[in-house]
Amino acid sequence: MTSDDSALSSVLPEEAAVLAATVAGSVLLPGDEGYDDERAVFNLNHGLEPALIVVALSEADVQAAVAFAAGQHRPALAVSTGHQMVGRAHGAVVIATHRMDDVAVDAAGRTARVGAGAIWSEVVKKTAAVGLAPLNGSNPTVGVAGYTLGGGLSPTLGRSHGYAADHVRSLDVVTADGELRHVDARSDPDLFWALRGGKGNFGVVTALEFDLFPVPRLYGGALYFPGERMADVLRAWTAWYPGTPETMVSSIAVLRLAGQPELPVPLHEEFLVAVRVAYNGQAADGERIVAPLRAAAPAVLDTVADMPYTKAATIHNEPTEPVPYYERSIMLREFPAQAQDRLLQLAGPDSESTLVIVELRALGGAWDREPAVPNAVATRGLPYVLLGVAGGPVSDEPQLKESVAELLDGMEPWRGDRRLVNNLAPDEAGDAAAIYGAERYKRLAAVKKAYDPANMFRLNHNVQPAA
Ligand SMILES: Cc1cc2nc3c(=O)[nH]c(=O)nc-3n(C[C@H](O)[C@H](O)[C@H](O)COP(=O)(O)OP(=O)(O)OC[C@H]3O[C@@H](n4cnc5c(N)ncnc54)[C@H](O)[C@@H]3O)c2cc1C
Repeated sequence: MTSDDSALSSVLPEEAAVLAATVAGSVLLPGDEGYDDERAVFNLNHGLEPALIVVALSEADVQAAVAFAAGQHRPALAVSTGHQMVGRAHGAVVIATHRMDDVAVDAAGRTARVGAGAIWSEVVKKTAAVGLAPLNGSNPTVGVAGYTLGGGLSPTLGRSHGYAADHVRSLDVVTADGELRHVDARSDPDLFWALRGGKGNFGVVTALEFDLFPVPRLYGGALYFPGERMADVLRAWTAWYPGTPETMVSSIAVLRLAGQPELPVPLHEEFLVAVRVAYNGQAADGERIVAPLRAAAPAVLDTVADMPYTKAATIHNEPTEPVPYYERSIMLREFPAQAQDRLLQLAGPDSESTLVIVELRALGGAWDREPAVPNAVATRGLPYVLLGVAGGPVSDEPQLKESVAELLDGMEPWRGDRRLVNNLAPDEAGDAAAIYGAERYKRLAAVKKAYDPANMFRLNHNVQPAA
């Protein structure tokens, strides 16, 4: 069930006042002080224009916001950092969770329990203090909730431990009926399965409890090569990865960052190929394993070294402040020599590519294994994620989209049949069935029907309730 939300009317001030009287956080209408700060998102080319924003401080606030949305037949949307929005949320109730950012670490039990608004840098800081690490992503400012519910592909520890969603012990979630549920494998097996991979489709998660791993240090960083040497580096990296242990995670990125001074890169004016590595083991072993990459070509910068886990975000060195961009990804089911040649044609030194980042993450290992408690993550068995990022203002969006399409269409012969929901673009909102595959989507749609029959949580890569 979808609807045209642009037809929804404004929330009246007296209606907002009734809600505000029951909420400990703030209730904001367009024009209110704070509304503009709360609707800002990470991609400067997008923005939210909801009818109402509830800045929640507690589960009770989330319940009140969901009940309000239900009473007014409005869609509701949880937002923590705004790293991945779909549409502008016209007429919707946005539930901003960033103030629900508690992080509690149980060092003996090797778990963390975090609020829906926690971001990875804060979690890593607290877990590292007791020598533990979560399955965090590349960017320190990404939110734990959206990342984990969308699978959560950790470029530091994922190959040996799987998706972040595989290690969720329990979730607290407010469903469309306004009920707060503590969900785990025993209490609500279907909802627990669907939430871990099905993302924001089933309710507003207020807290997550997940496993931590004893990883105080990494041997990691990036080798930056001149872009002109891309062929040598790409072929060396592709041949090297399958022979490395699961404790080694790696990706390759073609970077054209000149003219993007806001990006935190070490070398601005260059066309570079970066090979990122994260090895969970002794530095001496890491050095030995990385040697063939160092031999691929002379690096212009080599940051690969022993580091505390708290420095893991330096490996990808991504922007932490909002930037204007368009990005989209596909999975590859294989990456043979012909595919390498095609990628060189599309993004290499002789191409006309203007993409700021073309990133290929190699997967395998635990990413392919079903976790102890199965979940809705759809991408097992697909060995690579290919991401294209175009940078520029919204006025250039048609060209940005075209340049990403050129890359991904060019790799079509090797495209996998499913995709990672975390990397989907806003304009792929209608693609959920294709993302998950028919069987998984059918099960998701049945769970959706049971918990959100009116499709209140539809401002996402939407799973529609089963008929
Ligand atoms: C620079 C950058 C680097 C990234 N690196 C990685 C990476 O290494 N690995 C990876 O897997 N992904 C990565 N991502 C993708 C990222 O995981 C997604 O963008 C994710 O959705 C961000 O979650 P968020 O909570 O920060 O964002 P938000 O935009 O706040 O939320 C995104 C969506 O998640 C859902 N959601 C958020 N909070 C809740 C909640 N409390 N309850 C229910 N649903 C909720 C909603 O559907 C919401 O629309 C990266 C993204 C960026 C921009």
